[in-house]
This record gives sequence, C-alpha cells and structure tokens, in this order.
Amino acid sequence: MYFSKSLIPILKNNPTEAKIKSHQLMLRIGMIKQSASGIYSWLPLGFKVMKKIEQIVREEQDNIGVQEMLMPTIQSSEIWKESGRYEDYGEEMLRITDRQNREMLYGPTNEELITDIFRNSIKSYKSLPQLLYHIQWKFRDELRPRFGIMRCREFYMKDAYSFDISDEEALFSYNKFFLSYLRTFKRLELSAIPMAADTGPIGGNLSHEFIILAETGESKIYTDKRIFDVQSDNTKINKKSLSELREKFEKFYAVTDEKYNKKEFDDKVPEEHRLNTKGIEVGHIFYFGDKYSKPMNASVDLQGKKEFVKMGSYGVGVSRLVGAIIEAKFDDKNEIMKWPISVAPYECAILPLINKNDKSNLEKAINLSNELSKNNIEFIIDDTDDNFSSKIKKFNLIGIPFQIMIGNKNDGTNFEFREVGQEPKSLPIDKIIEQIKINKK
Ligand code: ATP
Ligand code: MG
Repeated sequence: MYFSKSLIPILKNNPTEAKIKSHQLMLRIGMIKQSASGIYSWLPLGFKVMKKIEQIVREEQDNIGVQEMLMPTIQSSEIWKESGRYEDYGEEMLRITDRQNREMLYGPTNEELITDIFRNSIKSYKSLPQLLYHIQWKFRDELRPRFGIMRCREFYMKDAYSFDISDEEALFSYNKFFLSYLRTFKRLELSAIPMAADTGPIGGNLSHEFIILAETGESKIYTDKRIFDVQSDNTKINKKSLSELREKFEKFYAVTDEKYNKKEFDDKVPEEHRLNTKGIEVGHIFYFGDKYSKPMNASVDLQGKKEFVKMGSYGVGVSRLVGAIIEAKFDDKNEIMKWPISVAPYECAILPLINKNDKSNLEKAINLSNELSKNNIEFIIDDTDDNFSSKIKKFNLIGIPFQIMIGNKNDGTNFEFREVGQEPKSLPIDKIIEQIKINKK
C-alpha cells in the first residue's frame, strides 16, 4: 500500500475535544471519524486493527469449542417482554417502531434472542452443553457517551452464551471462558486481571470483569498486586485444571468498587501488596443460572423430567479494545505508539527519502516491498515527498512496529531498520525479514 493513496487523514495537532490519549490518537491518525454523538465510522487504519483484534477473539473462542453464529442487530420487543427486561432496561435501549407499528429495538445484548433460538432448536439434555457466540454491533443509548470509542453508543462486541444441564456443568463452561479470556488478552499483549464483579442489570450470582490498569479507566479497582504474577499457561481444559486456575486467582483480593469493602481489603491484603487504582473493563463473564430460561421456558428433557437450562453470558468489547491497547501502549510524552504486531495495521513501514528529480529510493522501496510480500509481511510505503524527520514522526504516531528507512546514503544492500522506539540498525534485507518474523511468532 502507498501512503499517498490511502485514506489516513492525519491531523497536525491533537484535537482539543479529546480528553484521553486513545481518543486523541485515534482522531489524530485518522482511525475513526465521529458521525453522531457516540457513533463512529471506522476508517481503514482503525478498521484493520479492529478486524485483527476480532480475529484473535474469534480464534480463542473456537479454541474452547464455542460455535460461531450471527444474530441480527434489530430485535423484536416480544422476547424482551417475556424475560421482563423490556421495561427494566430503561432508556439505554434504543426503541424503534416499524411501518406495521411493531415495537422493535436495536440489541444492547442478546440473552433473550439466543434463549429463543435455543428453546426452538434443542430438546434433549444430550445436546448439552451448547456454547455459542457471535461478533456483532450493539447499541446502548449511553447518557454521556465519551472518550471516543471507549464509551460510545454503537460498539462492536463478542458475546457468547452457554447452556448446561446443571450448576456443576455450567461452572465448567464458565471456567472455559475464564481461561479463553486470559489467553485472548495475553495475545493482545494486555495484562487483564479478572476481578469479582457485581452482576448489575443482567443479574445472577457469579461474575468476573477483566480489567486492564489505566489511569484514564472508568472502573475503580482494589486489588492485591500479587494477582499479576498468577500464570495460566499450563491449564488444561478439564474440570479440575480449570477450577484450580480460578482458585489461583481467587486467592488474591481483586474487586471493582461495587464489591469493595474497606475492612475486607485491609484485612485480606498486607499493606505492601495493596493497589487501589483505575482500570478499563475489556471483558465480562456472568453465570446466572435459570434467570432467563425459566421465564422464557427454555428447558430440556432429562429422563422424562423438564429441566430449565443453566445459562451464562460472556462479553468482550472488541471495539473498546482498540482504545484500551492505545491506553496501555502509547507513550504520549514522546508521541510514540507501537501496536502489538498481532494487531498492527501494517507490520512494517518503508520510508524512502524521495527527491524531486530522483526516484531511485522509491524504486529501492518497491524492490524491498516485493521481498516483504514474498514473506507475507504487510507493509506500507510512504511515497510522499515529506522529509525524513516528518515521515518518522508520522509513523511513530501511526505505531507500525517496524520501520525501514532509505536515505540518500543507502547502498542498496543494507538498510536502516528500526523497531519503533529503539535505535536503528543497518541490516541486509534477509536479516530484516528474520527479525520481523521472530516477532510475529
Ligand atoms: P460498562 O461497565 O463499561 O458500562 P457494561 O458492564 O455495561 O460496561 P457489559 O454488558 O458487561 O458492559 O458488556 C461487555 C463488554 O462490552 C464490556 O466489558 C465492554 O468492554 C464493552 N462495552 C460495554 N459498553 C460499552 C460502550 N458503551 N462502549 C464501548 N464498549 C462497551
Ligand atoms: Mg460489564
């Protein structure tokens, strides 16, 4: 891709309306564009990052055996009346009337719709567990949309649902998601801590929020720092190994403010391990038993007896994660962003210095890009006539993790190669490719 032909509308300065660094950067490098309050278009750069995050989320759902499907954004009010949430959800729900005067809504979440699908499709306990997910836009008419795509009205979410025959089996499903979330956030190079959470309007009795630390986060958290050292690497997908994993985490106090109790915090956490700070919620898992299956009559036949299924739901804020990664990785003082290579919009930027009457550096850049292509490395060539320092400054902001610079002194065999934020090295192309590939693993 050539920079001159791409839709990357870079702003000279930070937009004044943005209060936190992810919102500033996303507007500054043209990842998103607001279309109405809390509603955004995703421009090519932002969309590429979000799609890569989505793919990682998807792979980690598939890895624990969840089936992907797709439910619509618009739902009928009928099923919400059955569960009792049509009234309860209040003004956050966007209600729409169609031409036949039917009450519709833009889905803020999908417990009702999936329960309806389940009850019409599954009859026997032998078909359990059913683990299902989709990745779809949601709409919540937030009172105060803010911080760009971090708290907006239309956002992209992965939501999964589990259906089981008993509490015991349902906890096994819950724990699978617990592990898959740890794996997902690790692949995004985020350190997300599972914290005991309140179940809020979704209801139920067991819940964890996955929170990454950030000064600009909206969740207040109280935790024992030692929870950051808990490892999940050797966990196997069986009941014993998964419940041991949960126990390893739950040994340490970690709650959000709804569950916070000063005495408990002081008693359970030695002073030197106490951490009271803020974070961003990137995922949330709930177990709520028969809260929806009972009123909506979703049951299976178990040896002639009708059993209401036990359900859980599991959300990841796919679009919010784009901002969360920026909050975690962007060095705003030095204006340097470095995306984890797994979600970077391009893996390598080629920055040739182009003189008016001499296109030889551009030719070298094109030759180089052919080699990157052969090795499946995604690149962008800055073919503008900007000077070197402004190209580097621009690409430091865009955050593509590797840069190759081709200046006037270039001999055509060695290139100035740098990992963003580090000193450049002079390397031949095969060594550059090797370095990028090592990082992709
Ligand atoms: P919050 O407490 O941040 O309002 P929530 O608890 O209402 O979120 P859930 O129903 O748990 O949200 O939704 C699952 C995930 O969807 C959240 O963990 C979050 O990452 C994301 N999400 C929720 N609301 C928004 C929003 N308004 N904008 C962007 N992402 C959101
Ligand atoms: Mg939540």
